[in-house]
Amino acid sequence: MSSAPTVEIAVPKTGRKITVPTGLFINNQFVPSVDSTETIECINPATEDVIASVVAGSAADIDRAVAAARAAFTTTWGKHATGWERARLLHRLADLVERDAQELAELETLNNGKPVRIARDFDIGDSVACLRYYAGWADKIAGQSLEVDNQTKIAFTRHDPIGVCGQIIPWNYPINMWSWKVAPALAVGCTIVMKPSELTPLTALKLSELIVEAGFPPGVVNTVPSLGAVGGAALSAHLDVDKVAFTGSTVTGRKIMEAAAKSNLKKVSLELGGKSPHIVFESADLEQAANWACLGILYNTGQDCTAGSRLFVQESIYDKFMAALISKAKALVVADGFDEKASGGPVVSKVQYDKIFKYISLGKEQGATILTGGEKRQGKGFFVDPTIFANVTPEMKIFQDEIFGPVLSVTKFKTEEEAVALANNTTYGLGAGLHSNDANQCMRVANELEAGTVWVNQYNILYNNVPFGGKKQSGIGRELGSYALDEYTSVKAVQWNFGEKLDFPF
Ligand code: NAD
Repeated sequence: MSSAPTVEIAVPKTGRKITVPTGLFINNQFVPSVDSTETIECINPATEDVIASVVAGSAADIDRAVAAARAAFTTTWGKHATGWERARLLHRLADLVERDAQELAELETLNNGKPVRIARDFDIGDSVACLRYYAGWADKIAGQSLEVDNQTKIAFTRHDPIGVCGQIIPWNYPINMWSWKVAPALAVGCTIVMKPSELTPLTALKLSELIVEAGFPPGVVNTVPSLGAVGGAALSAHLDVDKVAFTGSTVTGRKIMEAAAKSNLKKVSLELGGKSPHIVFESADLEQAANWACLGILYNTGQDCTAGSRLFVQESIYDKFMAALISKAKALVVADGFDEKASGGPVVSKVQYDKIFKYISLGKEQGATILTGGEKRQGKGFFVDPTIFANVTPEMKIFQDEIFGPVLSVTKFKTEEEAVALANNTTYGLGAGLHSNDANQCMRVANELEAGTVWVNQYNILYNNVPFGGKKQSGIGRELGSYALDEYTSVKAVQWNFGEKLDFPF
């Protein structure tokens, strides 16, 4: 690895330093930009201090990274690395991420704000499991043998790696989203140009060091920190990129699809926003439902595409349930992620903080009732306390728009039909949850909810072997599970004649 610029970032409390590369990662080397002198400033959202400046890659840097990925695809990776070898390297990468879990977690907390404990045990724990899950698939990619004419012909399919993949990820789960993109792509033999969010590029750069240490050939994974409108746009429009996998907002997803359509019609998968409904019926275990409802909106400080941000509560249990919900929400400790008691950290940026408070003001102006939170704190850091609005109606902005913060809208309902209609009254369709002890009701409502995932008597739980993705304007395609393999493979049908003679003219 070349000795490109690095930055040393001090870990609060311990005084230890984390050394992070600040250049582009191309062909297993950290290198400067071809032509950009711009940098991206990384902020610690708990203190508002600048902790690092990394290179802001240009369109020319994307060209260079794509060329490296293409060269690797046609020489050392793609069809040239066996499934067994791809599995071995993915397992090795998983081991290294696990080895460095504490340091990676601290870096994630410094750049994103989430509590170290949660970054380490959940985000990184799940990422390691994701790498191992897809390592398991690498030597099991198989097509089909198809019966066409037993006497003279055979047809079979090959599931070929699609090629060079541009992967554009957001800031809310930087390491998780990295592993969700990297693991299935590498398992099937694709090569990668990764563009992390400009708000949180540090862990993707640190993980790039592990790509080298694990032994991946140069060019298999490349990382270009860049602004979305520069590097993200260049990747989406690139003529030599075969697929773009994106997680982020619906607005950006639309731009990416347009760029793909206008360039080479590359394959696109989109994991977009949500305004997910969460329904509590009168037969539910109310204590448990209140716990899941809090987790649904407060986990990751509400910066979650599946956040259960619209809660529907049946009239007959409303008062009892709301009392439990409010006392649980108030008990959540939102603090600096290095505070061991913190279960929630600050939101990621000033832009996000201002957006959340703009929606809180709109909620008040449009007549919703604040039950807890909604006030700014004094001092540094982008902290937002759990905020619950009652009497929310479908015309209100806080009912329709994704806020991406710890702001819950609560609406009372009388009947199951009314709850389902309210729940589906959105342009999104990512997640949905329901709580009920009536099995028939669970099945009926799960069938009716328009969402890529429906959680019954739980919320926001994901597994690597269960597909994840959206309906409506929440996305196209699926991540996780065997379904994600389809996103990175191209099916080739081979039709073989070993006996039929053709008469011509026919
Ligand atoms: P964003 O769309 O602004 O940015 C996401 C990524 O896209 C970043 O890397 C950014 O640099 C890049 N980007 C921005 N403009 C681009 C362009 N014109 N062309 C190509 N790339 C571009 O989203 P964000 O603010 O980082 O993340 C928050 C949003 O992401 C929320 O709306 C949330 O719901 C959504 N999200 C969805 C999921 C999911 O799985 N469905 C997961 C996490 C976040």
